[in-house]
Amino acid sequence: MRTARQPVGAVVRRLVPMAAVFLVTLYEYSPLFYITVVFVCFLVTSGLVLAWSGLGVPVILRNSEETESSARVLKKQMRQVKNPFGLEILHPATASLTKGITLTPDCLEDCIVTCYWGCSVQKLHEALQKHVYCFRIKTPQSLEDALYSEYLYRQQYFIKKNDKEEKHCQLPEDAQVVDFGPVPRSRYPLVALLTLADEEDREIYDIISLVAVIHVPDESYRLPCRILYQYLLLAQGQYHELKQLYMSANSTAASSSDTSPHERSTDRSLLEKAGLAEDEPELHEENSKDCVVCQNGTVNWVLLPCRHTCLCDGCIKYFQQCPMCRQFVQESFPLCSETEQDEDESTRILQEVLPGRVF
Ligand SMILES: [Zn+2]
Ligand SMILES: [Zn+2]
Repeated sequence: MRTARQPVGAVVRRLVPMAAVFLVTLYEYSPLFYITVVFVCFLVTSGLVLAWSGLGVPVILRNSEETESSARVLKKQMRQVKNPFGLEILHPATASLTKGITLTPDCLEDCIVTCYWGCSVQKLHEALQKHVYCFRIKTPQSLEDALYSEYLYRQQYFIKKNDKEEKHCQLPEDAQVVDFGPVPRSRYPLVALLTLADEEDREIYDIISLVAVIHVPDESYRLPCRILYQYLLLAQGQYHELKQLYMSANSTAASSSDTSPHERSTDRSLLEKAGLAEDEPELHEENSKDCVVCQNGTVNWVLLPCRHTCLCDGCIKYFQQCPMCRQFVQESFPLCSETEQDEDESTRILQEVLPGRVF
């Protein structure tokens, strides 16, 4: 080790005085030339250092557009469909197996609501598979055929369109059902099937029926009454689970009952192919919801898989993680892309009209 180091030390010891002598001679010869040489050496050294550290330009000076492009996430391709069905539970706190449950269907067309008490879990999911592979479930009879009577009791109601009539469903006294046993259960407490009453309507809509799985509290399982799942069945043979979006907080909480049926139809028309659908009717109409980042733009983007809807058109490109829950965004889609198209369409029409006008 010692012998290896010595020659290097010797060379340095010899080079330093040589360089010093060279610089002194140079300075005596021409001070201007000396300064130029030192300056060039400085430039070359700093250039080499920057190149070696891999930064062509200091980080602060880099264009923000570069980081922005790397943060762009996949935009999910969406298809708009109109959902004619709506179902709500009136006073869920008071609903129970013995007292029954009050449903308020709100449909855009005349509908039939069929309630199956104690419906077999397995048979219901087999029925959904049959909708995909065998026959479409578009009438109460078709679900009946798929369920093989694996339920305890059935009730049926006719619902006129846009009529939010309350329907009270209850197991009859003589059914003598107190509970559906310990969890995990083989039967759902209540399954409601909504189908279009008019055959012509089934041709118009992509969504031909809605299956809602409802939990009703009983003696052994007292969790509050609520809709557990909603499946939208499409005429083409797919079915999608209807899920809510999580909007940012400054909502004025407009209830869906305040919106007109027309608004509801446009609002509920957004359905994602993969199975996530827009279920909150007030989302489109209320433009007062501000982006959580800039506090200025209107919230328009849904982040997946967390379903937080909290960013505006301007801010979406800066985020790879959801600003609400920090989950990585795999995909995203806009709520109102069709309005932009509509605007484009209207401006185009306006441009066509204007040249013809006499001012
Ligand atoms: Zn924003
Ligand atoms: Zn999130």
